[in-house]
Amino acid sequence: MDFTGLKEKTLVIIKPDGIQRGLVGTITQRFEHKGLKLVGMKMMRLGEKILKEHYAHIADKPFFPGVAHFMQSTPVILMCWEGLDVVNTVRKITGITKAREAEAGSIRGDFAMSVACNVIHASDSVETAKTEVARFFSEEDICDYDKTEYMHVYIDEERE
Ligand code: ADP
Repeated sequence: MDFTGLKEKTLVIIKPDGIQRGLVGTITQRFEHKGLKLVGMKMMRLGEKILKEHYAHIADKPFFPGVAHFMQSTPVILMCWEGLDVVNTVRKITGITKAREAEAGSIRGDFAMSVACNVIHASDSVETAKTEVARFFSEEDICDYDKTEYMHVYIDEERE
């Protein structure tokens, strides 16, 4: 998968609290309104194995069993977003982990009160995004298409 320039991709997961609280449309709309391009989307229940892989960096933390239980409490929505510097941009829109302290205007800042139930996951670097997108989406799941609004989201030089 191409992760260069306009084709940079990132993974967003709408967590069970986002699903249960009816925030799927609102969250998706925030990314759409920013000018990002949705290139992959699906709903699935996360199994133990994929969850351990995805959260390998926190798997030995005392809070991990609670997080794993929460993440399996409902299906989640997986989205792949594309755009210039999209990984960084989506992390900013997401806000910091501890939602109570997340900046107002960010998704976590506006919609969550918990460090665990913080509505969405977003890849934290381009390298991580490559691994995470490939973990949840096959090449065929990712849709390549022209987004006409790009004419007004980026200037010519940014689109080259
Ligand atoms: P982020 O999702 O902001 O990249 P981390 O990768 O550090 O944060 O943690 C992954 C997820 O684990 C968090 O989004 C959150 O749901 C949960 N988590 C992190 N730290 C804690 C904690 N101290 N207590 C409970 N859950 C936590």
